Amino acid sequence: MVQAIRAIPIRSGEADELIWQHSSNGEYTVKEGYRVWLEQSMAQKGVQGSSEGGFWKKLWSMKVPPKVRHFLWKFANDILPTGDRVSRKSDRWSEKCPFCDDRETQLHAFVECAWGSRIWRQSQCADLYMLHDGGTTVEWLKKAREKAGEDWFEEWSVLLWFLWKERNAQLFNGLKTAEEEIVQRAKIFLDDYREHQERRIATQRETGDRKWRKPPTGRVMVNTDAGILQEGGIGLGVVMRDENGSFVLATAKRVKGEFTVEMAEALALEMRAQLVQQFHVQNPIMATDCLQLVHLLTETSSSRSEVGVLCRNIRRLVDERQGSFSHVYREANEAAHILAHARTRWDERVVWLDRPPICIVDQVSMDNVAADSI
Ligand SMILES: [Zn+2]
Repeated sequence: MVQAIRAIPIRSGEADELIWQHSSNGEYTVKEGYRVWLEQSMAQKGVQGSSEGGFWKKLWSMKVPPKVRHFLWKFANDILPTGDRVSRKSDRWSEKCPFCDDRETQLHAFVECAWGSRIWRQSQCADLYMLHDGGTTVEWLKKAREKAGEDWFEEWSVLLWFLWKERNAQLFNGLKTAEEEIVQRAKIFLDDYREHQERRIATQRETGDRKWRKPPTGRVMVNTDAGILQEGGIGLGVVMRDENGSFVLATAKRVKGEFTVEMAEALALEMRAQLVQQFHVQNPIMATDCLQLVHLLTETSSSRSEVGVLCRNIRRLVDERQGSFSHVYREANEAAHILAHARTRWDERVVWLDRPPICIVDQVSMDNVAADSI
């Protein structure tokens, strides 16, 4: 199945961005290329049998949101775009720290700057902050990881990330948050995340039948989701997997404007119906967690509403490929849900082939474990 799809040349009449490893016809963007590079270097570091390898592995398996992990990974490799680094590349950027006008290195931003040091001292991570002894930030990170247990190190990482977030808010938007507020927000952020994780695990236990399932032999399961974004507009996510649970392709897009939930879900479905066309996928199972939409799609309605028209178009596209629609529980649709909230550029469809985007890697393997346990 996957082979068949790979063999198909892609005509990108639309504003597609294709991320295809070793691809000659797919476009390669710096951002996505970087992501792939990140994954590869991660994997390489992870397989080193040394204690160093163990350190990276530990870093990568931390129970913090993926964005914090990514940040920490860049931090650990000393590649964050601090003032000293970006000013070397462009005159548009200043090398100065937004808080004190000193030259901003990674060491300055997280350790030496008086602003940061006041925040550390007010936090529960003051002792870990004090572990810094004039070496590099990476050495400091390793010391903190050694001394702190998992929980404490997670707190440290999240606060580190908040410092970076605040630094960006100050630099790019001129927004300043009170120092004690930053400590507070970091704590609430992590507490929320932990609580959510616990709830999610509990729900998964209770709802074994709601898990993601592999499609029958020869078919492709296509999960779709739409999400209303905090910053306005909607995000659409699609993930395709084959009978083995192997990743086939994924796509995400963000659209500006206001939409009803139904309309947003319908747009997500339309996007994947087009994708199914474009990649010649046969017998797709089009799964959505929006029940109203499944009704709209399966009944022979002649509704002239916008959603009605869209649904007829979707049905036509899916019928051509002998596909069917299916309603799934929210829990079975998590990978598409994550993608719908991925930070892609506005109005530009991003397609991942061959390997899943890093934000859903965990979810795809969790789905497979769950599917195998049924
Ligand atoms: Zn400073």
